[in-house]
Amino acid sequence: MPLDLLALAAHRDDVEQTCGGTLLKMAERGYRTGILDLTQGEMGTRGSAEDRAREADDAARILKVSWREALDIPDGRVENTWENRLKVVRVLRQLRPRVLILPYWEGRHPDHYTASVLGYEAAFLSGLAKLASHQPSVAGESEDLIAPHRPFKIIYASLYRDVRPTFVVDITSQFEARFASLMAYKSQFTDQQAGSGIFPAQAEIRARVESMARFYGMLGGVTYAEPFVQKEVGLVDDVMAIPVKSI
Ligand SMILES: [Zn+2]
Repeated sequence: MPLDLLALAAHRDDVEQTCGGTLLKMAERGYRTGILDLTQGEMGTRGSAEDRAREADDAARILKVSWREALDIPDGRVENTWENRLKVVRVLRQLRPRVLILPYWEGRHPDHYTASVLGYEAAFLSGLAKLASHQPSVAGESEDLIAPHRPFKIIYASLYRDVRPTFVVDITSQFEARFASLMAYKSQFTDQQAGSGIFPAQAEIRARVESMARFYGMLGGVTYAEPFVQKEVGLVDDVMAIPVKSI
């Protein structure tokens, strides 16, 4: 079954931090959502890739996503190669999402901004009708998998980057579940809790997550929100219905 919305990210737990509330909100509205993690998290300081896989499944259940998988691209070495683009093309053609969420294209972590460009270029390639017949690594899959597909819309989750979003999504009703999905990554938070007890560490993480969501919520005139950037202009049909107060 095709997806309506797919979020692509470099690492397990990126989506939970940047757009998990939006994914949950869309699932609650009846859309089929999914998460594609490019890496399996083997370079993480804490826990193994197997721990991360289990935790990612728990987080996916909390966010009510219909599909989640991790590719085998090396953690810490996400490269925009032809081979990696084809791996993403295969997923896009299989899932056929209308909307694709990518990480913002600039950032501190090379995996994050590389994932953004890799995702964009894969989305473009995925729409090329002739790609399949000329690529042995794509040919050989079933007809369904190789039928071209290009997402209609690409939006960029910009929470990791200090840029002004072009729009924010109100996640006030989803905030607690989104926070719970992040806390599902127990192996990430175990060591931080050592010595100081469980509550101060969680309280610190919660304060950070909450203040970011509050800030973007304030920009949109709601309590909690997640920020996005779109490269296209916004199209307005009815100027009487434009949200967000000016003065
Ligand atoms: Zn990351």
